[in-house]
Amino acid sequence: MRVIFQGRRKTGQLDLEALEMAVRSAMHQAGAAALTQLLQFAEPSAEQRVIPCSCGQQAQYRELRSKAILTAVGPAQVARPYYLCQHCHTGQFPADSELDIENTEVSPGVRRMEALVGQDAPFDRGRQQMKLLADLTVTAKAVERTAEAIGEDIAARQQREIQRAVQLDLPLVIGKPLPILYIEMDGTGVPVVKKETAGRLGKTEGQPAHTREGKLGCVFPQTHWDQEGYPLRDPDSTTYVGAIETAEEFGKRLYLEAWKRGWSRAEKKVVIGDGAEWIWNIAQQHFPGAIQIVDLYHARQHLWGLARKLYPNDEVSQKRWMLVHQDLLDQGAIKRLTVALRSIHTDNPELADKIRLEADYFHRNALRMRYPKFRRQHLFVGSGVIEGGCKTVIGSRLKQSGMFWTVRGANAILALRCCQLNGRFEDYWEARRAV
Ligand SMILES: [Zn+2]
Repeated sequence: MRVIFQGRRKTGQLDLEALEMAVRSAMHQAGAAALTQLLQFAEPSAEQRVIPCSCGQQAQYRELRSKAILTAVGPAQVARPYYLCQHCHTGQFPADSELDIENTEVSPGVRRMEALVGQDAPFDRGRQQMKLLADLTVTAKAVERTAEAIGEDIAARQQREIQRAVQLDLPLVIGKPLPILYIEMDGTGVPVVKKETAGRLGKTEGQPAHTREGKLGCVFPQTHWDQEGYPLRDPDSTTYVGAIETAEEFGKRLYLEAWKRGWSRAEKKVVIGDGAEWIWNIAQQHFPGAIQIVDLYHARQHLWGLARKLYPNDEVSQKRWMLVHQDLLDQGAIKRLTVALRSIHTDNPELADKIRLEADYFHRNALRMRYPKFRRQHLFVGSGVIEGGCKTVIGSRLKQSGMFWTVRGANAILALRCCQLNGRFEDYWEARRAV
């Protein structure tokens, strides 16, 4: 600071940024010194020199031991009593659990910051943010380690909650009835390290997979619609759950989330997804009685795919064909659509196969494609919310170039990220401290 003021004397100018940063740094140093003072524990009194050990025997006080911890105001030192059990040779620091610094050299305040930046952006960006925003020097690896550890803790707590949910052991969520509640589901590939795809086939035949499917689900209410009758949604009211896991596991996860959002109080329940079979299996199992809707835009893509196969390199014919068939789809005239598809004659066996597949797809999902009926009820007919979610929740964080995840790491960051985006990180942190 003296240097800065001398500089001002010379030039007559004050560099406020340099000054504020220097003042912050000085305050941190003073703060770290104060914290270090506060964290010097006294030697235990004579009657506190023996404490229970987890082995059933007793641990004796040995000495005060100190360790460095990184705090919100920079590096500090803590000195606290160390106890050793003669019986099982396990040492313990009771003060560490009180201070929430067990087996870590990072304070809870800094861990929370690392979790926040780690769920938001690549770990090295998190490192940079820690430096600029908090004047704390950490490694990208430290951000990663902390964010993953906290994400794993969140995921583990959720698993316990899911167990209670499937045993129908959850407290009933009391509140006003909800007019309409939606569930949407989708899957998106997450790039993973080689060992995570061992023995799995990729999308291209004969090629190994490079990704694993991350499943994402969201829940949101709809309270009103616009003057033309189109549904409106409050974007802040959407919550997400996601993980790389089996459909069975994911179904339970989504069930818990729907439960939390008041599924039992919803007057109208809607599940929207693309044609993927696992989505409708989950809907059947966990959300019976919900109106099922196949995303209209996804269904149109099926028709487009077929149009391109029927009229390769002939856009005019493709469009003419679409005009008729998309209209049938939009009108929910699925029976007529499948009849039309099945009446297409071709000598090309590959094309015949494709036509049959698509006709089956529309036939199978006919009840989920009653679009005029859904529109009359002012319902969403597209899965835009979950597709946007796939980009913001998974894509922008886990699918950046050069990223390769372990399933464990990806699931930890996903749990943390959903917790943060759902506005529940504060609650988690409180609950964690309470234990
Ligand atoms: Zn012991």
